[in-house]
Parts: sequence; structure tokens; C-alpha cells
Amino acid sequence: MPASLAPLLKQYFGYDSFRPLQREIMEMTLAGRDVLAILPTGAGKSLCFQLPALARDGLTLVVSPLIALMKDQVDALTASGVPATLLNSSIQGAESQRRRAALAQGEYKLLYAAPERVMTDGFIQDLQRWNVTRIAVDEAHCISEWGHDFRPEYRQLAQLRQHLPDVPFLALTATATAQVRGDIAQQLHLRQPEVFLASFNRPNLSYTVLPKHQAIRQVFEFIRERPHQSGIVYVQSRNSAENLAAALAAEGIKALAYHAGLQPETRAANQDAFIRDEAHVICATIAFGMGIDKPDVRFVIHADLPKNLEGYYQETGRAGRDSLPADCVLLFSRGDLVRNLKFLDAMTDAKAAGVAARQMRQMADFAEGCECRRAALLDYFGEQWPGDNCGGCDICLQPHETWDATTAAQKLLSCLLRIKQKSGFSTGLNHAVEVLAGANTEKIRNWGHDQLSTYGIGKDTPREAWSVLGRQLTRLGYLTASPDHYQTLSLSHSGLEALKQRTPIQLTRVPHQPGGTSSSAGVSRAGTIACDDGLLTVLRALRKAQADARGVPPYVVFGDLSLRHMARRYPVADPAFLAIPGVGRQKLADFGQPFMQAIAAWLLDHAPQAFAHDEAPPKPAPKMKSEGALNSSALETLRIFRDGKTAPEIATLRDLSRGTIAQHLALAIGSGDLVASPHDFYSPAEEQLLDQAAAELGHERLGPLHEALGGRITYDKLHLYRAFKQRDQGPPPPQPGL
Ligand code: ADP
Ligand code: MG
Ligand code: ZN
Repeated sequence: MPASLAPLLKQYFGYDSFRPLQREIMEMTLAGRDVLAILPTGAGKSLCFQLPALARDGLTLVVSPLIALMKDQVDALTASGVPATLLNSSIQGAESQRRRAALAQGEYKLLYAAPERVMTDGFIQDLQRWNVTRIAVDEAHCISEWGHDFRPEYRQLAQLRQHLPDVPFLALTATATAQVRGDIAQQLHLRQPEVFLASFNRPNLSYTVLPKHQAIRQVFEFIRERPHQSGIVYVQSRNSAENLAAALAAEGIKALAYHAGLQPETRAANQDAFIRDEAHVICATIAFGMGIDKPDVRFVIHADLPKNLEGYYQETGRAGRDSLPADCVLLFSRGDLVRNLKFLDAMTDAKAAGVAARQMRQMADFAEGCECRRAALLDYFGEQWPGDNCGGCDICLQPHETWDATTAAQKLLSCLLRIKQKSGFSTGLNHAVEVLAGANTEKIRNWGHDQLSTYGIGKDTPREAWSVLGRQLTRLGYLTASPDHYQTLSLSHSGLEALKQRTPIQLTRVPHQPGGTSSSAGVSRAGTIACDDGLLTVLRALRKAQADARGVPPYVVFGDLSLRHMARRYPVADPAFLAIPGVGRQKLADFGQPFMQAIAAWLLDHAPQAFAHDEAPPKPAPKMKSEGALNSSALETLRIFRDGKTAPEIATLRDLSRGTIAQHLALAIGSGDLVASPHDFYSPAEEQLLDQAAAELGHERLGPLHEALGGRITYDKLHLYRAFKQRDQGPPPPQPGL
């Protein structure tokens, strides 16, 4: 029964509450539905199949792309007392026989396997004999060529559906693009999947952009202030990864390199050292990442400009899975962009080069922007940040200083206009800045631009400031950059108007002018769980010793969250220890004694400290952009519906399932785009039945309603019913979308 989920959550995993959407996803998969769950990294996707596996008879098959990842998850489950195992090419001979025999006996609840294994001879028959009742496909974007980690083997998973037609699928991914989502549903042959899409905001991550001048020194100083913390530094090339790791190591920091050019053994060893807290810092190319479930990565630094925002989001996303605060720092220099763009010149595929260039410029705009970083990132994913101060980015945490840029803007705009008038062509920003600065360059002499009235009128201001101004005016639409490589600038209509009318222009001072500000991020520590730092150090060492004795990563013993709560509440008896988040029955049995002893010993010599309730209140979840909430497919459904077609007719017309059409319409009702009456979709008699059931069960969760009504009312109608209820009740809580 779904009602037993919460006790199981505490018993096995030691948590008291679900994270957003976890419960809804679990109930839907327990109701036998196919589910597609798109939740950001760290949202707790694993639990969505692990807990249902415990709540029901039979075996859950988990398909996962990487052997290391499977091993870590099985270790963590085993430590929590969950019977789980894995089969892959690393398990051979007698050990493989033993596991298969135990699987046949029903001794495991979860079996992890790689996709290529699934297709080997006889495995499907084995699965049938082992009573597989649920299939979870983790990192499901690997099935899509549109995604960033395409694995052809994932394509074969569709055969599972053929051979195990009654087993529900649960596909999980952190990749949000609609193309990938559609691909997953199609390739896995999901049947009217219930789609859950969470907000992509990561409230515990803070974002900072710093001007890059001496990257190695800046990285070193940042890390030096954070002893004991694990972090990743992303760089662009293999060489930089090696050099940086060596430079940090020379300063006494436990840093290792990771990139695709290393021997496989070295790569695995370095990753392992990081996961086991033996190396604190990994200096890596983007080859490092997927397959790292380490929850306590406290910072991610980008020492070179990432290629696009999607990658930046995914890479920073590896920080702070444990929901404790973590820092994301980007070191930015304009030179990086110029260098990256130069690389594109070598590309033969002009179209691909164009796309790449646009993405790089978008990335640079993010770095140079004066807008809240969180809002900018979420905007990229079609989400709207409610607009207030996010409290977790350099822009929001620095007082916004504005200045009257009218005169400066006049100078720059008129300089560009005079150049155009004199020469008949536009130039790039650099040339205009040289003219303002009164430089004596060949171009200026050849083109006679030293004759312009604006020549030298800006020589008292640093050139970089003129460049920043030029880019700000471009972003604000006063200037238009040509789409070609040269990015020549011309005045837009509003630029001409501003020049003529002397329109006042207020600008935000760019927070990180070169030369200024310190190297370390001044981000807030809100959300940290204050604790007795002396005791924390003791507990950390104990955790490492216990982990080593068992050959597992330290976080498998206890996460940082659990340790901090221990070093804050000083539990010395079983009930108090069990109340610590992350402590379930198995962990109490295995680790309760040594940890409580260590705490008791500490208290002999130290008075316990008192802590105020200082945990940060959760930030509001951002709303989906209302026009973004309806994707193009939903809009198309809405259009046809407005033309007078019924939902079943639209399904036939569009060759989509009725469930999908119902979800489109439900979304449109929720967003206010569709004004309709419930009786367009279900009869008054049905409504009465629904109201009776909902009076007891609520209307949020459709699985229980469906069950209570004996399956008489289809999910299509339930979706619409819920949409009407929510519309009538005002703003909905975060809900599954499309
Ligand atoms: P994802 O796969 O979505 O990136 P994981 O499944 O790896 O996320 O979970 C990230 C972390 O969150 C893990 O350390 C996990 O133990 C923790 N976690 C998951 N669910 C909860 C919960 N309900 N309460 C507290 N912590 C949770
Ligand atoms: Mg995961
Ligand atoms: Zn912000």
C-alpha cells in the first residue's frame, strides 16, 4: 500500500519527508503506470525506484549506464539494509552463479544491470523467472541522440517492453529538453506515461562570476579557504587539467587530474580517490561527471569558459546533491571567448560552427550580464524566477550600483555613427574604442578616423570600460551586432533615437570590473547547518575509518548532513540517534555504537554548544513561465480543441494517445489558457463520484482516486478533474507538467 511509503523511508533511509515530486512519482509507478521523471541532479531520483521496490513483492530491475555508478548505489543500498545486487561484466564465475541463485530465490529487491547485459542470451528469460515487477531506466537521456551522453545500447531496451509487456517502466533523467524527453518516451515505448517535470532551480547552489586574471592563483586561494571540502575544477584542455592539478598539489592541496587522455586505470583510480575523500579536488575536463553520485561536492569552479549554458548548468549541478550549500564559481575573461571562437574557424561544417558560436556568445552574455544568475539560468530552461532577490548569486548579494551613463553612451553612439557616415561601413567595437581612445593605429590612419570629431574624446576612460559599455548597450538593444563573424556594430532605431533625444541611460555598474575585487566568492552561507566544528572533525575522521574498514566511500556510511546534525544534537542514545536525518535501522545497528561512543567521549571534555534554529527557510519554487508551460504540442491540441473537436477526435487526428491529449488540455485549464466546463469532459454523475472520492482522498494524487473508484474513471478524466479543482482553488502547488 502506498501509505506505507513514509515508514519505509524512515526505516531504510532515515528520512522523515519526501522531496518534491518523489511521493507522486512513487505512487504513480506503484499504480502500475509508466512514468517519465525529469528532475534536476540531486533531486533524489534514485529513491523514486528504490522505495517502491521495498513496498511491493518482486524484483525491480535498474538499468544504469556505468559500472562505477551501479557499484556505488548498490553499496549505499546495502549499507541501508536494502537487499540489492548488480550483474555486469566485472562479476564472473562463482560469484555470478551465487547472485543468480539468490535472485531466483527472491532474496533481492533491486537488481542493477548495464543495458548491454540486458540483451545477452537468456537474460530476459532469467528476468521472467526472477519475477521482475518494475523496470527503472536511470539516466534515460542516454537513449537519445539529441542528448549529451548517447549510448547506442540503450536503444535495445525497447525489447524489454516486448518480452515483459506487463511490467511498468520508470524512466529518469536530469535532461530537460523537450526533444530528449520525447525521444525517451518513444524509444522506450512508454505507454501514456505520466510525466513529472520538476523545477530546475537548485536552491542550495550559489553562483558567482569573477574576472579571470591569474586562474591558477585564484583557484588556489579559493580552495585554501575551504579545507576538508570536496570540489571539482573544470578546465578546457587535458594539459590545463594536468598543470592545474600539479600546481595545486605543489601548494599542498590534495588534487588530481581527470581527462579522457589518461590511462583507464589512472582515471578510475583518481575518481575513486575523490569519492573516498582521499583527493579533495579533481581538476578535470568535461569528461568527468556523469557517474559521480558523490553528494558532498561543495564547490564547482569553471576556470575556463564553458561551451554553452546547458553544459554549465549540468556541470555546476554536480555540486551540493546533499542539499547543503555549495558554491559555483566561473572565472571569466573575454579572451576565453575570443579564443574559443577562433577554434571554430577550423570547423568545416559552417552551420555547426554557427550554432556553437551562438551558444558561446550566450554563455559569455551570462557571465557579463547584470541579471540574477539564477534567474538567467532558469530562464534558459523556460522557467521564471519570481523576480525577487535570490540571495544566492553575486549579482543579488552585491548592492546594485547604478550610474548615469547618458554622456558616455552619447560619446560611444556618436562615434559609431560618425565612423559609418565617414566610411560608409560599420566596424567592430574594438575599432570604435580605439578611436575614442585617440589611438594611432594603422586602420585609423588609413581610414582617416583621426579626423572624426569623436577621435580621442574618451581617452580619460580605460578602454575596457568603453568595451563593457558597448556590450551593455548592445544587450539593451541600442546597438545591433551583425550576425557574421566580425560582429560589426550599428545603431538600432532606439540607438539613433537615444542619440538624437539625449535619452537618459541608467546602467548597472558591472560588478567585476577587471582589476577590482578579491579572488574568492563572497557568497552567503545561508542554509548551512551550524554545528560543533571540533566534534564534526572527530566524526569525519571516524566516518573515514569506518568506510575504509568496509571498503565503501565515506558518504555511504553517513552524509555530511547526518554528521552535522550529530555534531549539533549530540545524540548518545538509540532514539536520539535514530532521529538524525539519514539514520535508518541498519545504520543505527552498524554505526550507532562507534558514533555515539565518540560523541559521549567528546562530551566528557567539552560542554555541548547550543544552536539556534538557523536553518534557512526554503525559497519559493519558481513558477513555470506561463507561455512556456504549454509546449508547442499542447498549443496545437488547444488550437484543434477550440476548433470544436473532442479530445478523442484530436487523439486520432494527431496520432497521440488520449492520455497525452488529456494532459495537454489539463495544462491549458491550469494555466488559464483554456476556459471550459467540467461537463465537456465528464458527466455530472461521474463528477459526483469523483467529488465523493476526493472528499476523502484529496485530488492531488490520482493513483489513489483511480483505485478508490475501482478504475471506473479513466486517468484522462482524472487529469482534467484535478485541473478543474486546482483552477477553482487558486494557485496550484508544484505539479507534474508535460
Ligand atoms: P539524483 O539521482 O536525482 O541526482 P540522488 O538520487 O543521487 O539524486 O539523491 C541525491 C541525494 O539526496 C542523496 O544523497 C540522497 O540520499 C538524498 N535524498 C534523496 N531523497 C531524500 C529525501 N526525501 N530526504 C533527504 N534526502 C534525500
Ligand atoms: Mg541519479
Ligand atoms: Zn540572484
